[in-house]
Amino acid sequence: MASYDVIIIGAGPGGYVCAIRCAQLGLKTACVEGRETLGGTCLNVGCIPSKALLHASHQLHESQHNFEKMGLKGAAPKVDWTQMLAYKDEVIAQNTKGIEFLFKKNKIDWIKGWATIPEPGLVQVGDETHKAKNIVIATGSEPATLPGIEIDEKIIVSSTGALSLPKIPKKLVVIGAGVIGLELGSVYARLGTQVTVLEYLDQITPGLDAEIARSFRSILKKQGLEIITGAAVQSAEALKTKAKVTYRLRKDDSEHQLDADVVLVATGRKPFTQGLGLDALGVALTQHGQIATDGQYKTSVSGLYAIGDAIEGPMLAHKAEDEGMAVAEILAGQKGHVNYGVIPGVIYTAPEVAAVGATEESLKEAGRAYKVGKFSFMGNGRAKAMFAADGFVKILADAETDRILGAHILGPNAGDLIHEICVAMEFGASAEDLARTCHAHPTCSEAVREAALACGDGAIHS
Ligand code: NAD
Repeated sequence: MASYDVIIIGAGPGGYVCAIRCAQLGLKTACVEGRETLGGTCLNVGCIPSKALLHASHQLHESQHNFEKMGLKGAAPKVDWTQMLAYKDEVIAQNTKGIEFLFKKNKIDWIKGWATIPEPGLVQVGDETHKAKNIVIATGSEPATLPGIEIDEKIIVSSTGALSLPKIPKKLVVIGAGVIGLELGSVYARLGTQVTVLEYLDQITPGLDAEIARSFRSILKKQGLEIITGAAVQSAEALKTKAKVTYRLRKDDSEHQLDADVVLVATGRKPFTQGLGLDALGVALTQHGQIATDGQYKTSVSGLYAIGDAIEGPMLAHKAEDEGMAVAEILAGQKGHVNYGVIPGVIYTAPEVAAVGATEESLKEAGRAYKVGKFSFMGNGRAKAMFAADGFVKILADAETDRILGAHILGPNAGDLIHEICVAMEFGASAEDLARTCHAHPTCSEAVREAALACGDGAIHS
């Protein structure tokens, strides 16, 4: 029986990062993964493949809408879907092989197969049982469908099926205007699909700053996405080659139907913990079915830890990664820590949306006095040169101390721009600190500085 300091179950961003950090800190480490390749949902059927398709479809959009304006003439490229999927698969392969290389480099044993935990301190994979001083569950999440809707990954698909459709659908109905629905919905809209998004709530992207969400919605509308809010989906039925979706408008309870070639169910995800044997072990769960942990990722069973999508908090790869590093440090006797107040969220559409910290709504609810500094990308020379001046930066700062409480960006490279604000927040910076930091010209990041200036005496270019 092989014996380890730590066995991590799951090799997604939470698990593989945890394994690498454990090994770096001198712990004898193994990671169990049942997929053919490492990297979990993120690398295989999530973040990475969707970014490949977002990139390719964005290039197509640029060629169709902006090339001529720049004096780049000639026939617009045609879509070779098979080749686009092959490119996406190649990007996946490069990334998953990269993790395999890192496992070898760090002398981490990859135990191939699906794990169960027969008793504390033991992990069983197939016929083999392995001993571990500590076990970390990093098994991630799976799509949560709606009652009565069965995902067949052909006509009614989750994000997994949507990343490998055999052909580009003519009509796509997306259920849920959250991150997955809008990212993949905009991919297909750019590829020529007629996309209708049905959202239960009155606002898209719940949790996002409402002002950003409104502007984002109007940009998506201009890009051709039809978004119907206040629409409670009743059913989605796969017929032979098509699907029929029935929904009720909440405002008047009227019933409507839509035909589609493909229906994407993007109504959230749920922890993936089946088969681990948690019930028999008596592992406590939260009321939402996540594994309950204390502030140090300990479950209710001694020597058993859990991180990532399987526990509470935003279901984000980078949140899982940070928890993976923190738990590794805790197991190595250090003080692992994650600052949950500064976890950025990004929606990888074009333009991107990025957010960190408080929204205006959450500050109002908390009765906190705050000020707002905003700056439109219309006043940013670099964004204009890129035909990307739609959107704005919004910084929220404490009315009295000027400390940055949150930031929201809708615009070019928002997912990169947000990080200077994350760093500023980690250091407890004021908006003035950001405003007094020299920003290179011409960059989109000048819009962040201008928004910080707008929290004080005013932006220069607005
Ligand atoms: P989500 O929670 O972001 O959005 C689900 C949406 O579906 C919500 O707007 C919800 O109101 C709506 N909805 C629920 N029931 C409905 C119904 N009956 N009819 C109509 N609408 C309904 O979930 P998601 O987009 O599926 O993503 C799942 C998880 O994966 C999220 O936690 C997300 O953060 C994560 N993810 C993140 C990224 C990223 O960071 N870029 C990308 C993909 C996924």
